[in-house]
Amino acid sequence: KRRELEELRNLPAVTLDGVEVALKANIGLVSDIPIALTNGAEGVGLYRTEFPYMTRSAFPTRSEQFTLYRKVLEGFAPHTVTIRTLDIGGDKTLPYFPMAQEDNPFMGWRSIRVSLEREDIFRVQLAGILMASPYGEARIMFPMVSSIGEIWQIRKILDEVREELEREGQPIAPGISFGIMVELPAAVQTAHILINEVDFFSIGTNDLIQYTMAADRNNPKVRKYYDPYQPAVLHSIKRVVDVALAAGKPVSVCGEMAADPVMAVLLLGMGIRELSLSAPSIPVVKQAIRSVKAGTAREMADHALSLVSAGAIRTYLAEAQSSLG
Ligand code: PEP
Ligand code: MG
Repeated sequence: KRRELEELRNLPAVTLDGVEVALKANIGLVSDIPIALTNGAEGVGLYRTEFPYMTRSAFPTRSEQFTLYRKVLEGFAPHTVTIRTLDIGGDKTLPYFPMAQEDNPFMGWRSIRVSLEREDIFRVQLAGILMASPYGEARIMFPMVSSIGEIWQIRKILDEVREELEREGQPIAPGISFGIMVELPAAVQTAHILINEVDFFSIGTNDLIQYTMAADRNNPKVRKYYDPYQPAVLHSIKRVVDVALAAGKPVSVCGEMAADPVMAVLLLGMGIRELSLSAPSIPVVKQAIRSVKAGTAREMADHALSLVSAGAIRTYLAEAQSSLG
């Protein structure tokens, strides 16, 4: 079985009827690079940059970030690396950056909200990313966007950082793709508005499930509510995919859901052609994609979306999976 999976590494993730799916890795630390490559990742769909911040004892400087991002970009060239800006707060804290106690940290001061309020920290990171951009294929992505105003603010800051670097004479890659994570119900509901402001969407199902179902992703007490099979979750994803495809823009899924082979097939059936997942799960997901026709996946997704409960969807997909073999 292990041998089989190893042989899969160099085979493409393509359905029986020839539809290609890009399987990319979620990474956090430089030590994830070889793991991603060993598992056949075609680039990085989610680089969680908070991890290098978390393992330090002070905010990384511009040049430290440049060096780090350059290493990651070079490690995956010619494939793209989607660098997500700092996503702290919620359950992730930095030892050197005290944050006030909050009653509801996941609904509090986290992620892009921190970056937009602490522009000093944000600008250093953006500069590090832009300076590294000539060394590979960088895409830049912003977490936890809830409305168009944040995108405007981000763009303004990013433009200013770019202009500053250009004045310094720093080379920057042209046309770096600019995307957002769709992981809040507010972003799902306004996807048709937000899509006009960005180059791509990446659906973060970990937070999307949490916020859609109002169930803390880390609280075992509400585990049964935190359910990717809920129609509320699946219809949200479908809506975002439809909006992006209608606009002719790339849309991927980068939450844990993408690592479940059945879910991966369901996402394929919804129109997703790019998944980003923890690298060790790439081979099993690839195997699932290689054993199905895109048309069949499409029918599965249509049927699943017509069902009214998570239980019915789970049962149906389990049956569909066993009939696929
Ligand atoms: C997500 O929310 O689905 C996601 C991929 O980001 P994170 O798990 O880092 O919040
Ligand atoms: Mg998230």
